[in-house]
Amino acid sequence: MKSECEEAIRNVVERQGRLVVLTGAGISAESGIPTFRGPEGYWTVGAREYRPEEMATFAMFSSEPREVWQWYLYRLGVCMKAEPNAGHEAVVEMERIFGDRFLLITQNVDGLHLRAGNSPDRTFQIHGNISWMRCSVDCTGEVFALPDMVRPKAKDELLTGAEESALTCPRCGSRSRPHVLWFDECYDEAHYRFNSSLEAAVNADMLLIVGTSGATNLPMQVGSAAAQRGALLIDVNPEPNPFSAMAERSGGFFCQGGAGAILSEMVAILRG
Ligand code: NAD
Repeated sequence: MKSECEEAIRNVVERQGRLVVLTGAGISAESGIPTFRGPEGYWTVGAREYRPEEMATFAMFSSEPREVWQWYLYRLGVCMKAEPNAGHEAVVEMERIFGDRFLLITQNVDGLHLRAGNSPDRTFQIHGNISWMRCSVDCTGEVFALPDMVRPKAKDELLTGAEESALTCPRCGSRSRPHVLWFDECYDEAHYRFNSSLEAAVNADMLLIVGTSGATNLPMQVGSAAAQRGALLIDVNPEPNPFSAMAERSGGFFCQGGAGAILSEMVAILRG
């Protein structure tokens, strides 16, 4: 890491500044969970291959609910087999160091930050969590854990009739849906902490962005809001991306490389 970057981080710690960490699929790539950019993202329905941007939509769920649930239960299996990695552990350590001056905004639905030990009240899962479901007709805003009898699926393994019956809203009996934000839906506060995330961004003294391609709307707004308020932006990613450009434009830093090694190095700097 560049010495200017180290110095800027130390400065935030000395000033007792607030840290916001914004993570994307890249931080979980080292746990073996594919990002949406790789070839593993594709899913076959009948004779057609669908991209995640097509599968992860309310429109697809409305026409092919069983296929969409099957895709999510396959991905649930991938997430459940994965273990938090050095990057997740480093983010937990950052929460320990900053305490109530820490917030985590994650686009990941895999739950690995919570499993690693970040606290639920300081973790905004702005795209939901793959282990949860809710009513598809919004009879209630409540979110429910997936029923125990619903099992993660292997690729091409079908939902059983009993599982389909269990994937219903416990309140009204309508079909339930995965508690995730789909590409054709909008952010809100109740489910996805939209306002809280923007508020965190404007109050941040340092925004650490890890493993995201900047293809979604709220994360870009979080980056712009923090940069406009003069926060130190640091982007960690093996590839240049819109956040690395934003960080460098605003006087921050692009740390090019994998999350595990770079975040562990950052924790050592934070500890002093
Ligand atoms: P993305 O797939 O668009 O981009 C991933 C980014 O991670 C890329 O910029 C890539 O260069 C970077 N990356 C790859 N390996 C890395 C590493 N070792 N360390 C650091 N960075 C690395 O992911 P996204 O921007 O988060 O957005 C896509 C959407 O996909 C999100 O809405 C998210 O909810 C969903 N998604 C989630 C998961 C998950 O929960 N683990 C996995 C796939 C997709």
